[in-house]
Amino acid sequence: MNLFFDMGISNGYKSASQVARVVTENWVVRNMFCPVCGAPLLQQYTANRPVADFYCESCMSDFELKSYESKTAKVKSKISDGAYHTMIERITSFNNPHLFVMSYADMRVNNLILIPNFFFTPNIIEQRAPLKDTARRAGWIGCNIEIGNIPEIGRIMIVKEGVERAKSEIVEQYQQVSSLQTSALKKRGWMFDIIQCIERIQEPEFCLNDIYAFSEELKDKHPENNFVKDKIRQQLQYLRDRGFIEFTTRGHYKKICL
Ligand SMILES: [Zn+2]
Repeated sequence: MNLFFDMGISNGYKSASQVARVVTENWVVRNMFCPVCGAPLLQQYTANRPVADFYCESCMSDFELKSYESKTAKVKSKISDGAYHTMIERITSFNNPHLFVMSYADMRVNNLILIPNFFFTPNIIEQRAPLKDTARRAGWIGCNIEIGNIPEIGRIMIVKEGVERAKSEIVEQYQQVSSLQTSALKKRGWMFDIIQCIERIQEPEFCLNDIYAFSEELKDKHPENNFVKDKIRQQLQYLRDRGFIEFTTRGHYKKICL
């Protein structure tokens, strides 16, 4: 991977946003492999497709790129996206590409993360205030993607603070989390909430009460569910069956890859 952009290809483009789009997309085409199947290159969609920017010829996965300039080392916890309702519709119809989030500075990639499409849930999409009456598109409602609300395992680092990660690790992490793929949005919400609770526990081992400690918080997030503790235990079993945690003794758990 060459982390620098090829600025030569932006000749002829005047606006800063066009230049940024052209050089970042070109960077992906020249450097990015398919993180889903490991194929060496991604292809760019030629026409201006409304949703995806790239695809993999081998596994037919679609990808979208969101990039922004920032001198800060870390990735933003929130990035702005398009229309709120379109985004919610995309998530619920499962016609959603995987998302690359790139931050760059001095014409060089600083961070690049992959967020697999099955990590999108309505509660990571934040509705923004409608545009003011004085705006050209008055009343239009945009959204933010709250990257910080996605479990850590769902943010696959490809380049971190200017350093690239081994391709094999990236493809392996994708494979690992792909066992969490489910089309049921409600299920995703619970599963990711429980994963995040586990991620917040610092120790490698924990017990049921450590997770029950999050009950009130989880109840606030899922007011329709009166059996939060049952739900917690069900999710722990689900994560155990997929190899993310291990049950050691009754009510005791060990993290495997969380
Ligand atoms: Zn692929």
